[in-house]
Amino acid sequence: MQTKLTDSVEEAAVILNSGGVVAFPTETVYGLGAAICHPEALLQLFRAKGRPADNPLIVHLYRIGQVAEVACEVSVQAAKLIEHYFPGPLTLVLKKNPSVPYSVTAGLETVGVRCPANPVAREFLRLACCPVAAPSANRSGLPSATSWEAVMEDLDGKIDCLLRGTPSAIGLESTIVDCSGVKPVLLRAGAITLEQLRTVVPEITTIAVTETKVRPKCPGLKYPHYAPKASIILCTEVEKITQKESAAAYIGISEPPEGVSLQKVCSTLEEYGRELFGFFRLCDAKNIGLIYCELPSEEGFGRAIRDRLMRAAGFA
Ligand code: AMP
Ligand code: MG
Repeated sequence: MQTKLTDSVEEAAVILNSGGVVAFPTETVYGLGAAICHPEALLQLFRAKGRPADNPLIVHLYRIGQVAEVACEVSVQAAKLIEHYFPGPLTLVLKKNPSVPYSVTAGLETVGVRCPANPVAREFLRLACCPVAAPSANRSGLPSATSWEAVMEDLDGKIDCLLRGTPSAIGLESTIVDCSGVKPVLLRAGAITLEQLRTVVPEITTIAVTETKVRPKCPGLKYPHYAPKASIILCTEVEKITQKESAAAYIGISEPPEGVSLQKVCSTLEEYGRELFGFFRLCDAKNIGLIYCELPSEEGFGRAIRDRLMRAAGFA
């Protein structure tokens, strides 16, 4: 299959609406979209990614009013979160409407719903014939794609179209909150932080990273994720790095250890999050065997970076 690379939102939407699989930019990471009204496109999407069928897809909407098209119940807490954080990097898990196929929700009675803020994503979703199911646009298990080049690297020849956009502004996947139960639960940390969520809904609880493998509330979290080919060593600012290898790299905010052949020193947590997956891919391209990654604290956006690092390192 030939993958059409385009800058035209209209052209990408025509391909989507005729049952094609189309990658598109969002503020979190690039998404791989299929219209939920096209069952064969949904199948092709799982095949292209190599994604297990029991890992549900997030449904992307153009406007908040469409939530009622895919969810049958919106709790008071969910409504508050929607009011504050939609459109934006937040996914809510809600009880699903019968119109959403089980292939999207992996057989669950709930559906993940997000309304992205990126203007190109919004225009694409506005032109879509129905809501768009879209996981991250990478091969399953690899770091999410945060640039159109990374999408091509993984999916060229496997998808119908790539709508080219700018690099993802956030670089980490959306925050996920399960609002389908009695108490809202943070399933995945992201750019909307736990602290921010709690200013609106104080009762939000968390689940331990290690717990997600044993009792996967968020099915996708039990799979290996975000992993480069290199081994990852998590370090903290105060820790002394003793082990050194010639083909080693470092990413973090503090000064790097001596002797690394590739390094990315970030000035803020936001920059760290934005650069992380691209850096992993760069390390792979340069055959780096070992990556030292500074592990931030759980405060604010640090929680999301920490979560991805723990998973990439195989601890969760
Ligand atoms: P990705 O789109 O690649 O960022 O992955 C989507 C994530 O959302 C996966 O970890 C899924 O398990 C999770 N997700 C999607 N829908 C649901 C749902 N209905 N319930 C729980 N988690 C979900
Ligand atoms: Mg993903």
